[in-house]
Formats: sequence, structure tokens, C-alpha cells
Amino acid sequence: MVASHRPHPVHSLREAAALFFRHASPALLGLQFLAAVVLRTLAGPLTWAEVVVVVFVAIYWPVQEYALHRHMLHFRPRRWLGVEVDPLACRYHRHHHRHPWELRYTFLPPRLIAMLIPIHALVWWKATPTWEAALTGIIAFGGATLSYEWIHFLTHTAYRPRTSWMRTVVRRHRWHHFKNERYWFAFVVPMVDALFLTDPAPGDVATSPSCRDLEAD
Ligand SMILES: [Zn+2]
Ligand SMILES: [Zn+2]
Repeated sequence: MVASHRPHPVHSLREAAALFFRHASPALLGLQFLAAVVLRTLAGPLTWAEVVVVVFVAIYWPVQEYALHRHMLHFRPRRWLGVEVDPLACRYHRHHHRHPWELRYTFLPPRLIAMLIPIHALVWWKATPTWEAALTGIIAFGGATLSYEWIHFLTHTAYRPRTSWMRTVVRRHRWHHFKNERYWFAFVVPMVDALFLTDPAPGDVATSPSCRDLEAD
């Protein structure tokens, strides 16, 4: 058992992938992705509707990733009409900030993923003109979610990035965790932070006393 006060060692991407898919959320997302790829491959050539679907996901995903991190995962518990509102994903993310090297909490809650997979399929089924296009939507959006989980997971291990893009992603995510949790919410497309003015020079920002304890803010 590796102590969670330091990043989990990984010596290769293959070793990292084996560890990644041992966790429930990536395993569920991987199964969804694989099933959709097999079914879509059997259905024949690509159509224009599917090109539109892929372009839409490519534009929408980085913005959604940013917005969910900033506004949903960092949502603090509060009482609304006498009811305590504190969704599971927010509790998970607070725990993730408190224990950044505990790999289990780098993922979205498995219960949430299990619930969202059929809803996700239904949304694509309703939103697209053919079931081929629905499958492509599941592949594109499910693949983006899986990629996000993979990249986030790697930033919380001792993996040494090999590309300048990945070095940027790791550096900025570590600032979010250890410098100031009010900035650097973006992931796969770091420039989204610049778009929403959460991209200061780290030297211009005070170290936040609440970046490990979000409720203390
Ligand atoms: Zn993180
Ligand atoms: Zn966060």
C-alpha cells in the first residue's frame, strides 16, 4: 500500500494504464467507449451528421470541463429551502483537494458515472437523426470524458510528462491544488482559463489558505 502523502509512482504509461483501469469510473467509461466503437464500426461508413457531432463535442468539451470544475465541483454545501444541498461530486472534489495523492478521488464518483451512462446514451439518441450518429456522439463525448479522467489521473501521479502540452497541464493543475483553488480550472485546453480570466501569473497570486480545505474558504 502506497502512502497517500506523496504521488503514486508510475514507471511507464502501460503501468499507469493498468492502474487507471483498475478504478471503477475509468473501467465503466472504457466499457462504454469500447461497446460504442464496436457497434459503430459494424454500421458502415461515416456520414456528415457524424462529422458535425464530432466538431460540436470538440468545441463544447473544453468549455464544459472548465464550467463543471469551477461551478459544480467547487460548489460549497448550503441550505436551500431548509434542505442541505451537497452533491456527491462536490464532496468527492473537496476530499480530492484535501488528499490530492489519494488516487481514488481523482476520478468522478463511480455511482455518478453508472447513472450518467444510460442518460448520456438517451440524450444522443434523442439529439441525433440516426443511431449511427448517436453512437458517434457516445464515442466522442465518452472518449473526451475518459481522456479527461486519464489526464487528471496522470497529473496526480509521479508520471513525468513527455510533451510540453502535458507539462503545462500538470504545472497548472498543481497550481490549482497547491497555490490557489480559485484559478486554473481548465484541463485539456489550458487557454480556456485565459478566456474566463482565471489564468494569472502564479507570482501575482497569493497562496490560498483554503486550497486544501475548500470549506474553509
Ligand atoms: Zn486534481
Ligand atoms: Zn478543484
